[in-house]
Amino acid sequence: MFFESQAIVLAGQKLGEADTLVTLLTLDHGLLKGVARGARGMKSRFGSALQPFSYGHAILFGARTGVLRRVNQVDAIHSFRALREDFDRLTWAAAMANAARALLPEEQPSRETFALLLRAFQALEAGADGARVNVFFLLALLRATGYQPRVDRCLVGRHPATDAGGARWFFVPHLGGTVCASCHGTLTREAGPIGCPSAWSLSPGTHAFLRQALRLPPALRDRLKPDPALLTEARRLLDACIADRSRRVAKRPIPAAAPPLNVRARFDV
Ligand SMILES: [Zn+2]
Repeated sequence: MFFESQAIVLAGQKLGEADTLVTLLTLDHGLLKGVARGARGMKSRFGSALQPFSYGHAILFGARTGVLRRVNQVDAIHSFRALREDFDRLTWAAAMANAARALLPEEQPSRETFALLLRAFQALEAGADGARVNVFFLLALLRATGYQPRVDRCLVGRHPATDAGGARWFFVPHLGGTVCASCHGTLTREAGPIGCPSAWSLSPGTHAFLRQALRLPPALRDRLKPDPALLTEARRLLDACIADRSRRVAKRPIPAAAPPLNVRARFDV
């Protein structure tokens, strides 16, 4: 059965002598993996359309039952070549592609995520600050997939977060948000040092930024001007949140039609 969709190439792995195992984020079918036969051959019909971050129109073949698909054809709409030719852009684009791969279950369409990733790649290509693009993408990705962090209250004591008093706060990825120092102390005492989920001490500036960023509609987020140190802290917290959530995302297993022993290299960073 053939099916088609707009698609963004998230990653690829060499497979055998000339094939590529491609991970695609498709507009209509979500995250998919497929084998592109002969993609690395001298006369590949794919050209550069299977390069990481390429955006194109894909035609795939295979029953929609979780079996590894065949990628028949990909016609490039926009190759995002500039993202592969600059190390910083490559790093940020790969971080966002990997975050989408980590959080999305396979074969469940998320048009919002598709649009978010496309816009983020466009912003990177246009020269926007990668650290900023990445943090706002991660926040939007978490929201689109139903995992928006809660940073406006203590998730244990249920009391609201305020700037008053200079109280310390922690970010607990496993709970998906913030816990005040007092409740975190109780949590640690009750659960013990091993049972207590890992927690990150949260700086007041980053806590305030995250509260504002999640409260503002996307169109108004340009008003926020987080400095580089704050963006770095926010990225680490969000990465930890995504890593924790990704462990719970139900991944549909792909039958071993393509033995992983043939995989020689990855081009995702
Ligand atoms: Zn509390």
